[in-house]
Amino acid sequence: MDLKELRERQSWTLRQKIDHSLGVIDQFVSRLNGQVYVGFSGGKDSTVLLDLCRIVKPDIKAVFCNTGNEYPDIVRFVRELKNTEGYDIEIIYPTLKPAQVFEKYGFPLIGKELSEKLYYCKHHKESMRAKIAMGLEPSKWYILPKKWKHFINYKFDINNTCCKKLKKEPFAIYDRKNKVFPILGIMACESRQRQATYITQGSCNVFGENGKITKSLPLSIWLEDDIWAYIRDRGLKIADIYHKGAKRTGCMFCGYGCQFKDDNRLQLCYELYPKMYNHFMNYTNNGVTYREAMRKVLAVNGLFLPDEKPKTLFD
Ligand code: SF4
Repeated sequence: MDLKELRERQSWTLRQKIDHSLGVIDQFVSRLNGQVYVGFSGGKDSTVLLDLCRIVKPDIKAVFCNTGNEYPDIVRFVRELKNTEGYDIEIIYPTLKPAQVFEKYGFPLIGKELSEKLYYCKHHKESMRAKIAMGLEPSKWYILPKKWKHFINYKFDINNTCCKKLKKEPFAIYDRKNKVFPILGIMACESRQRQATYITQGSCNVFGENGKITKSLPLSIWLEDDIWAYIRDRGLKIADIYHKGAKRTGCMFCGYGCQFKDDNRLQLCYELYPKMYNHFMNYTNNGVTYREAMRKVLAVNGLFLPDEKPKTLFD
């Protein structure tokens, strides 16, 4: 598969995409003799995914990992579904709490790739990865942008281990214990990395070939508008947080992408859940609070924490 082919598929009608996804799910379920489940985040994409999967296999199990960093609306929505007749939803938990992960491994700030690079450059200076990231070795990989380099010198760590501890590991343990394989609501349009992964794997179903993890991604070729159109057409109920202004869900206080001007998560959290907001802002790493670290990240783009914005003439 190449980008042209992906774009062609992404331009299919919603009807074509639905037929395609149902076929993908059906193939995955049949080939694995029903030993599958839906990795359910409670967000709109996985709500669509669960609906599609239930068309193919009405009794399919959905598994939600409560990371401890979820919007209360999402947790409420998942619990409601769990208590709805005909739904089989299981809630699992990570072994560490977000505060412990932040303290032990570092803050999830800026972005997944950049946070990994920063950690390497700070703690494994002599590694090839660090040298490439610092631009000391020629490579096709992109180097750490200059504006983020000074974060290596701060007392607090920025790291990409959080997702591994709060999400990946609990699901990996669940998969191993129950000998089941996940169906996930990931779309190629979400990021360049997801697009590249889809093009490389070449299909929505992966069956462990060449050491790859067995998984199904039936929404790979869907676009954001398709998700909303499907929700409208099927009259699907989605978590309330979308009606309160959230553009996307995921972890409530994740610092990935908080430095972008159009990211409204922090503002929303502060307005809707001020107590939780303050609680998270007091989490620490190496004696530095999440608030202090995030303040520095936002400052790079001339932004402020929602409760630290300077007053304007209109306030
Ligand atoms: S999305 Fe962010 S906060 Fe949530 S587990 Fe991943 S890195 Fe941590």
